[in-house]
Amino acid sequence: MKILLVTGESLPYAKSGGLGDFIYSYGKALAKLGEDVSVIMPLYLPMRTKFPEIMEGFYDQFDFKMSWRTQGCGVFMVERDGIKFYFTAMDRFDRDQLYGYGDDTERFACFVMAVNTFITRHNDYDVVHCNDWQTAMLPLLLSYNPKPIKTVLTIHNPAYQGWAKRDDLGAYFNLSTGYYDSGFVRLGDSFNYLKAGIMSADKINTVSVTHAQELLNDHTGFGGIGAIIDWCRHYDFSGIVNGLDTDIWDPKTDTHIVCNYDLATVKEGKKKNKRAIFEQLGMDPDFDGPLFSAITRLSAQKGVERIIDIMPHLEEKNAKMIVIGTGEMEEQFQAEAFKYKNVYLVKRYDEELAHLLYAASDFFLMPSYFEPCGTSQLISMRYGTLPIVSNVGGLNDTVFDVSKGEEANGFTFYNNDYFGCLNAYFRACDLYWAKGIDRMQEVGMKGDYSWKKSAKAYLDLYHTIDWK
Ligand code: ADP
Repeated sequence: MKILLVTGESLPYAKSGGLGDFIYSYGKALAKLGEDVSVIMPLYLPMRTKFPEIMEGFYDQFDFKMSWRTQGCGVFMVERDGIKFYFTAMDRFDRDQLYGYGDDTERFACFVMAVNTFITRHNDYDVVHCNDWQTAMLPLLLSYNPKPIKTVLTIHNPAYQGWAKRDDLGAYFNLSTGYYDSGFVRLGDSFNYLKAGIMSADKINTVSVTHAQELLNDHTGFGGIGAIIDWCRHYDFSGIVNGLDTDIWDPKTDTHIVCNYDLATVKEGKKKNKRAIFEQLGMDPDFDGPLFSAITRLSAQKGVERIIDIMPHLEEKNAKMIVIGTGEMEEQFQAEAFKYKNVYLVKRYDEELAHLLYAASDFFLMPSYFEPCGTSQLISMRYGTLPIVSNVGGLNDTVFDVSKGEEANGFTFYNNDYFGCLNAYFRACDLYWAKGIDRMQEVGMKGDYSWKKSAKAYLDLYHTIDWK
């Protein structure tokens, strides 16, 4: 099968969160299964210098119309790990960040129009698999393609939807405003990219079974997107949990950590990595109490307030906390972190340090309000770091509380619960000091987080789509 994954980001080129992990690791898993897999994504400014091989791989060049404007696009191609990566070079993406600009809906309209033109010019894909709002308009555009193409939309985060205006249907996509007036792409008083994708893709899914259920049950959150799925696309909607890139995230071979380790050497290994990160950050290298960490976007979704709630209680349990994060709540978080000497905040995106912190930590905090799948809890468990999570979405599907006996691999509490979160923190500390975490660490490290099962589930999903 010829599969095209369409995305705003992918490792190793550009990543802002779990989507970047998903595309690269799922793409590699498909290639290993013998599928013909390509990825298409924007060429962001920093990639031009960081990955000079991209600029040597000129592949195609074309113009397309966005209403009265003519937009030029260059396409570069690099083959890596069995995946063909295509990069669309356009002026609107010559910026440092991936997202977060006032004209993002226009930028990604431009990307989608470029991908649509690209597909028409090289019309041999069987499945076009779109990801999140940035690419959600593509299935509707592809319904005009003379060759039938199967389309799938994966919702990695329903909170981001791409809100535009009625007239943008024509101005960006050359489409009739009838799509808005009929309600097909309208949510509230706006033209909503994600809704357009939900209404027009052949199949839709999100990235865990529990989150799929949460969306179907929640008719008011996320602008009512769950109600749209429930009412209009219930039978084409499913949940498939993400796998992890077990090549990149392996404490035995990880080149970013100071001491590699496995199950037999986890204690020694963690001790050395802990010392190394403390030295690197100018903290006390001899500290040997529990280390709590978070590596996250500092946004409300991630339960930043719950992490702040724990800070005043670190001293009494002789514990420390290191957080690597950026995001809209970073000022508020920093103001709190500064009050406690046991808390260290690294306020930047730092992939290398993240690896070392996963390896050095004893516990990983993920008290999210909602979490479609979550990658960090899977990485943590593989590194022998016990996750402390709220029982939502993918966290509920992958982390099992200490009270669950044999299968326990972490600590869970009810969503958005101050006392529940603190209780989980205290239980974790007590178990650490009682030297009782070994069994859970073992269950976590032995867990199968690979893509084997989930990649097959996606292929099955592609096969269930009837040829039009
Ligand atoms: P989301 O996609 O919602 O942000 P996930 O848990 O699915 O959350 O994925 C987050 C990924 O991004 C993890 O691989 C995590 O290690 C990484 N990450 C998040 N923030 C940072 C940061 N500041 N520095 C390095 N890596 C980060």
